[in-house]
Amino acid sequence: MSKKTEESAAKKVVKGRTSGQFRCLNCFERLTPPPGAKTFTCPNCGYAWRIYWFNPGEPRIRGPVWDVNEAQTQKSMAENKGGK
Ligand SMILES: [Zn+2]
Repeated sequence: MSKKTEESAAKKVVKGRTSGQFRCLNCFERLTPPPGAKTFTCPNCGYAWRIYWFNPGEPRIRGPVWDVNEAQTQKSMAENKGGK
């Protein structure tokens, strides 16, 4: 976990690869978050992702936003349960 190594690696990758997109890990849709966004909710499946900017043009998923995804899961579970 060396920050310096990460930064120099990032600089090497910067040239020629500026898609600005990442793939939703839940539904694999290609997403284009606004530059600098910290989180982005997939419009396709509703899962929220925490974003880490590998460089200004290359977002990466850092992990799920648990609060939002849990709410999503609970909502769908509640819908499935129906009531008892
Ligand atoms: Zn998705």
